[in-house]
Amino acid sequence: MGKIRCRFCKEEAFIRLKQHRLNLCKEHYLSWFENYTQRTIREFNMIKEGERVLVAVSGGKDSLSLWFVLKRLNYQADGLYIDLGIGEYSKKSKEKVLKFAKEHNLKLIVVSLKEEGIPIPLVGEKTNRSYCSLCGRIKRYYFNKVAREGGYDILATGHNLDDEASSLLSNVLSWDLKYLGSKFPVLEEEGGFKKKVKPFFKFSEKEVLIYTLLRKIDFIEEECPYSEGASTLFYKKLLNEVEERSPGTKLRFYLDYLRKVYPLFKKKREDLKSCILCGEPSYKEVCFICSLKGKVKV
Ligand SMILES: [Zn+2]
Ligand SMILES: [Zn+2]
Repeated sequence: MGKIRCRFCKEEAFIRLKQHRLNLCKEHYLSWFENYTQRTIREFNMIKEGERVLVAVSGGKDSLSLWFVLKRLNYQADGLYIDLGIGEYSKKSKEKVLKFAKEHNLKLIVVSLKEEGIPIPLVGEKTNRSYCSLCGRIKRYYFNKVAREGGYDILATGHNLDDEASSLLSNVLSWDLKYLGSKFPVLEEEGGFKKKVKPFFKFSEKEVLIYTLLRKIDFIEEECPYSEGASTLFYKKLLNEVEERSPGTKLRFYLDYLRKVYPLFKKKREDLKSCILCGEPSYKEVCFICSLKGKVKV
């Protein structure tokens, strides 16, 4: 059997992307990855020239690589790191993000939930909601607030295909129609919410990991100690088994959702008002975060 050759330079390939029917050497993998990101951004009208992007960075491979690629593609992209106040995990992830920003001379904004009076361990203890749902809502609130105050046009997150497809699968299994009308890789600015984009949503987790390793980007590998990773991991594994048997299924599953299902359930956020305390969008007079701050204050 002959060697597998790179599509572009005919050198020996180091990877075979079955769902794209593409064999690539290391160098051409990097350029393929960056060009593909650019194509996704254009295809979904995610970022226009001159717009300012705020990238939500956690210290993980997806968000750091996204920041790196956006800069390489010459977008104006600053980073936002939210220090969740979760012991060693937050300390380590913050170190990675600070180091990355410094190395590449990038502008980073840091929000400390401890200083805000609502570190995750405290709010988790004082309310009966799950840590992950609390953390998700708090992060969304600060991404939006910081973007609005800093005059950013767009918020970008590093969600990959495995994240999106596994979350879709688990919500389809429970027929969560609210979810089915709210998830899209681009959400336009609406009702006080900034525009949100996920430029990596077509890349599998493995594809992002390979890019991160080839670029020698140092990232935190640990999962959050509160993470409800078990069920998410299960769905990811399940989808990868299907993918193994039938390459391309994962991407098709997600793209067909975007094309066929999302338009049927899409809703307008028309009932939104502004929180009377902080001005952020809210369905009630006082938003979730401000009422949370009231609850945990001693
Ligand atoms: Zn090549
Ligand atoms: Zn508020």
